[in-house]
Formats: sequence, C-alpha cells, structure tokens
Amino acid sequence: MALIVQKYGGTSVGMVERIRNVARRVAATREQGNDVVVVVSAMSGETNRLLNLANQVSGHVDDREIDVLLASGEQVSCALLALALKDLGLPARSFLGHQVRIGTDSVHGRARIKSIDSTRVLESLKRDEVVVVAGFQGVDEADNITTLGRGGSDTSAVAMAAALSASVCEIYTDVDGIYTADPFVCSRARKLDRITYDEMLEMASLGARVLQIRSVETAKKFGVRVHLRSSFNDVEGTWLVEEDEQMDSVLVSAVTCDNDEAKITIRGVPDRAGLAAQIFGPIAEANIVVDMIIQNAGADGTTDVTFTVPKKDHRKAMELIEKTAPLIQAKGVASDTHIAKVSVVGVGVRTNAGVAAKMFQALADQSINIEMISTSEIKVSVVVDEKDSHRAVDSLHASLIESR
Ligand code: ASP
Ligand code: MG
Repeated sequence: MALIVQKYGGTSVGMVERIRNVARRVAATREQGNDVVVVVSAMSGETNRLLNLANQVSGHVDDREIDVLLASGEQVSCALLALALKDLGLPARSFLGHQVRIGTDSVHGRARIKSIDSTRVLESLKRDEVVVVAGFQGVDEADNITTLGRGGSDTSAVAMAAALSASVCEIYTDVDGIYTADPFVCSRARKLDRITYDEMLEMASLGARVLQIRSVETAKKFGVRVHLRSSFNDVEGTWLVEEDEQMDSVLVSAVTCDNDEAKITIRGVPDRAGLAAQIFGPIAEANIVVDMIIQNAGADGTTDVTFTVPKKDHRKAMELIEKTAPLIQAKGVASDTHIAKVSVVGVGVRTNAGVAAKMFQALADQSINIEMISTSEIKVSVVVDEKDSHRAVDSLHASLIESR
C-alpha cells in the first residue's frame, strides 16, 4: 500500500462544488489502495481578502497577528474538505499546523519549516483515516502561529511527503503542468513530461507562478518525487525528477521570460580597486538582490557598470546609487524599467557547446538587440527591450526547442 500526499491549491478548493470534486478525487485515490494525506490551500482569493481586512483595520504592520489572521484561511478549507470526505463515507480528520506539528523558525510571513512530528498523522492513518492538513502554516518554538510565505502550501505538502517518505507528492493546480514556454506568449509551447529540480529552480520566473520555489528546494534536498498536475482533468502532468543521462541530450527544456527586473547603469566610473564593493555594498545592506552585473572598461580609464534589480526595489536602489555616484566620481546614472530577461534553461546547456551561440543567432535573425548577457551552468539569459520579449521567446522556442 502506497502513501500519497496530494496538495490542492486555492482554485481547486475555491467553491463548494470544487471541494466536493477534490473529495471525490481523494476517494478514488483511496479506492486504488493508497493511504492519502491531503494538504490544502485557502479558498482562492481568501488570503488576499484577509490581508485587505488587516490593511483596513490598521496601518501598522504586525507580522505576528497577520500570521494568526492568514492561517485562518487554510483552517476553513481543511475543515470543509474533511467534512466533504466524511459526507462520502470516508473517515477523515483535519489537522492544523500546530496539531501535526509542523515546527518552523520565528520569521513571521516567510517562516521556514525546521521539523515535522508526524506521530499524530501516522496514528490517524493507522485508524484508516484520510489526513487533511492545513497548508501554509506552522508553529514556532514559543507556540506562535507562523506562515510560510505566499504559495507556501506547496512547501507544506513537499515537506510532509519528505517527513512521511511518501511515494509521491501530487500537486494539483489549475494548469496541466510545466510548459516549454508560456503558452500565452508562444502558442506552440507544449507540456513537459518531466523536468529536473535544478531546471525548475532556474525557471523561477515561470515556475514560481506554479510552485513556491522553496518547495522545489525541499523536493531536491529530500529527493521527493513531485507530480504537478491539474485538478480539473485526469491528464498526466509534469514530474519533477533527479537528472539522468538521457536528459542532457536535450539541448534546452524551456524558454522563460521575466518582466520583473529593472536595469541601472553608472557611467564613467574611474577604474580602480574597491569600486564594486563601494557600489554594491549599500545595495546588499538594503537587502536588494542584484541579478546580472556587467562592467566595461573604457579606453579613457573609466568604466560603466550596469546591473539589474527586481522592479519593486528599483526606486530604493536608485536612491542608494545616486548617493554613491558622487562619492566615486561617476559621470552619471541611468536606469531602464522597460526590460525583459529572456532565458533558455536546460541541463543540456552544461554539456552542449554552442547553445549560447545558437541563441544569439536566433535573436540576430529577428534583429533583436541584446543589452546584457549572463550564463549559469544550465541557463543562458539575455536582457532585451521589453517590447521585443515575446518575439524573442517565440524565436528561441522555434530554434532551440522545436528544431531538435
Ligand atoms: N493561501 C496562501 C497564499 O495564497 C498559501 C497558498 O495558497 O499556498 O499564498
Ligand atoms: Mg500556488
């Protein structure tokens, strides 16, 4: 008898009829002879509704009370699902994070799971019950309720699967799986049967909308087999797996596009030691994550330094850079928020020479100008003008994915 962890997202439990649908799916999984632990998100829109209420009541940010408030969303959906299961004649029992007990650190709003005590869950399974666990929530050492950050139920589910050594963690959502590109941008995009943990992590910009990144990190760390699929049909989704030899014969698995970054350039900085430290020190202190950096040395002994930051941090980063610029005798500062980072991702990038060259050729054929380039082990990224980004994705999909 296998143990399966199933996670249902907000849209899958967003209405009473859908909760009944989830209960029927769980019942079917049980009928096939499996034990089932279900992890649920709050009903869709609920977390935002609660946040909105908090904003109306108080202008003051109180992370502890926000966590108490937000955790109620998952409390509702897990109780409703347990009721729906019992209505089908299935023994079921709901558990909140602190009842399981899912122990976390004390960082309210984005707590990390530190331990899971599965004793009560195992006892419940032994009584032949379906265990329904509230996602997204845990409890710290001082018994404060914590939440795991937006999309955190994914991480709850994967961590439960790891703790219980489940044979699979099925993540049910409103899409069929991970695609070779965003189907809204490239109509020829197709669903991937499988993808490696590392590729999924690199695809953050595309994948984050489907899975919380921390859940992928947890799956990789504990080798949890994750099957991402739709709760609205029975189609096979995408499996997250460990890399195997077959996979690097595939050049590129997916093309992604990230419109959430902005570019900042400091012009004419005297080229001397300590410069980068002076520029990036204050940015790091402000907790702003810098993604790409380029530095060009000019013939006149000065350099231009260009880097990208998340759009949401652009203003803050500009304030800091405008303070630093006169201190390092820079000639000027410029920024551009209308950029897009287009990337090709695949474990094959590591072993196949020429992926980058092919990528640049495809963009050249479309007369798309490349503003910045960066590479990692399994990814090549370029920054282009935002208005060219869809054309870039489409041409890269044609030349690197469809042509293979
Ligand atoms: N309800 C939480 C959110 O909306 C957690 C989750 O859905 O995974 O972010
Ligand atoms: Mg989600």
